[in-house]
Amino acid sequence: MTRKTIPLAGVIGQPIAHSLSPRLHGYWLRQHRVAGHYVPLEVSHRDFEQVLRTLPKMGFVGVNVTLPHKEAALKLADSVSDIAAIIGAANTLTFRKSGRIHADNTDGEGFMANLRTAVPGWKPDTQTVLVLGAGGASRAVVATLVRARTPRILLANRTRARAEDLAEEFGRRVQVVDWHAVPEAIGEADTIVNTTSLGMVGKPEMKLDLTRLRAGQVVNDLVYNPVETRLLAEARRAGAIAVDGLGMLIHQAIPGFEAWFNRRPVPDEGLRAHLLEALA
Ligand code: NAP
Repeated sequence: MTRKTIPLAGVIGQPIAHSLSPRLHGYWLRQHRVAGHYVPLEVSHRDFEQVLRTLPKMGFVGVNVTLPHKEAALKLADSVSDIAAIIGAANTLTFRKSGRIHADNTDGEGFMANLRTAVPGWKPDTQTVLVLGAGGASRAVVATLVRARTPRILLANRTRARAEDLAEEFGRRVQVVDWHAVPEAIGEADTIVNTTSLGMVGKPEMKLDLTRLRAGQVVNDLVYNPVETRLLAEARRAGAIAVDGLGMLIHQAIPGFEAWFNRRPVPDEGLRAHLLEALA
């Protein structure tokens, strides 16, 4: 007789108390009546490898990985998806029955799925996209846009050298724009994506001149706390299509849930409301 085990998953990071992932996956576990659990795991950089090697022995089927472990997770994995290798960081680990660890990065997929869902007909391969920021989230966004054949990506970052490094890595479709020239670049773009932490709770506001935002443009803020940032409010006022970061957070979580629990969740308004309640 085979014994039925309860599948466990979670999110590893430090700090982790404010992560929305347990609430998000908990909603889907209840919705799909899966007898499993998803827990927050506060783990230091020093203990990360030991914890990772122990989790599969405790009934864990996989984990999400967040700061500061995304690069370490990639290095420790036995196999790595193409996109995680390109991005250079992992956010989703699946523990195989053999004990091997598979690493993926679903941020870019989540970014793209969110835009496609929020803006019917949105196509990355016909656009000029302005990306603000050159940190970890920007790497995922730029890599995904390049893969989706976006013909022109304008990249601006406060520290210009980081944008130049990214542009060099991702080829000539990525053009660096000076941080001070962002107001003009806004006028040239079809879609604008904020991947900086500006506007996030506890961080400085976006102080850029946003007066060139116009009707018909798509403006996507990856920041989801608050869900309505100054950038999105200004975009709406200008008649642009504003897309918040909560949708990306939800979409990037789908592949992990599917790999661990064998169900593919579909985002719904109930989940959004459930997450907004926690952010309020
Ligand atoms: P990160 O690697 O630390 O990068 C931070 C970026 O913000 C860098 O480009 C940095 O520029 C810029 N920045 C920080 N302070 C600034 C300031 N005062 N003025 C101008 N630029 C500033 O962080 P990350 O992991 O990429 O995350 C960035 C944001 O994306 C966070 O708000 C995060 O919550 C959000 N995010 C959302 C999702 C989602 O699912 N919705 C997923 C991933 C990330 P410098 O290089 O000059 O320092």
